[in-house]
Amino acid sequence: MARTTPPRPVDIAALFPELAPLARQAVRLHPRPGEPGVHESSVGGPLLWPADEQWPVCTQPHDHWSPPVSLDDVRRSRALLEAQWLRPRKAGENLLDPAQRELLDRLRAGHPAHTGPNPLLPVAQLYLRDIPGLTGPEGADLLQVLWCPLDHDDALPAAHLVWRDSRGVGALLTDPPAPLDVDHYGHYVPEPCALHPEAVTEYPTPLELPKELADRLHAWGEAARHPEGDRGPGGAYYQYELSVAPGWKVGGWGPWSFCDPWPMECPDCGAAYRPLFTVDSGEWDGGSGSWIPLEDRQPPPGPVGHRRPSDPPMVQIGRGYTLQLYVCPTSFDHPHYAAMQ
Ligand SMILES: [Zn+2]
Ligand SMILES: [Zn+2]
Repeated sequence: MARTTPPRPVDIAALFPELAPLARQAVRLHPRPGEPGVHESSVGGPLLWPADEQWPVCTQPHDHWSPPVSLDDVRRSRALLEAQWLRPRKAGENLLDPAQRELLDRLRAGHPAHTGPNPLLPVAQLYLRDIPGLTGPEGADLLQVLWCPLDHDDALPAAHLVWRDSRGVGALLTDPPAPLDVDHYGHYVPEPCALHPEAVTEYPTPLELPKELADRLHAWGEAARHPEGDRGPGGAYYQYELSVAPGWKVGGWGPWSFCDPWPMECPDCGAAYRPLFTVDSGEWDGGSGSWIPLEDRQPPPGPVGHRRPSDPPMVQIGRGYTLQLYVCPTSFDHPHYAAMQ
């Protein structure tokens, strides 16, 4: 099923023509529960990987605030919770019985951190044919994103990008190594999702605009009437509903919200970085209602499980933030950059 973002409540570039030249396309990925294969675009799915190519590992130091767990621990605890959330329960009945509670505690206890290289975990693979406007190095038709699912010195999982020509891949790796250590809470483990890419138009958040324009947008928002309700949208109307889309996406603008943008330049050539890929801790919440796709506006039939409809990948960045991967527009060989917002 396709996913359709409702048209923005107002055409903001018509009201503020200064915004028109700043319009950028973003492709919302709309990850939803699925069983993607190696020949499909996915989040948390298997990667198309040559049998004779080394699987990437992380050798950076890790910040272990709490003991790491295994990938299997995360999968088993999520499966346990999902089954219990979906089971009919009497009023007052506990979610878990004592044996399940003990099992969950055991799965969450963790183990002493390994000291050697940590194999990376697949995060996403994007066939360029599925993502309007996404281009890669000459010959590449596939972008693969992996990461080391632990905290590094920037308090983020360490991402690794692979551009690949899928047509040149012969025998496939069928049993890639799993990470030995995963962050204690399993926040960096994506559940398998099929994608429903959709192109939308974005504008910079107020923090990336000249202050004078940002102030006028704020004042306009305070005076505006929201077409979907009687509650006034307030000064953040532009920021939340008219600038950047929430959720996993490709391209667009960075979702600057809680700190001022810092200059982000490629260390190799000085070019300004551009957003490539955004990982989000959810696709909608109370403040982003107008971005909910039309197809997701009715609650799914039956009970809602541990895996919420607004967040099928179940990845959490910080306290519910986003992680953006930026790339250099000059060369795909230049280093990428990761930022949390
Ligand atoms: Zn690492
Ligand atoms: Zn560069």
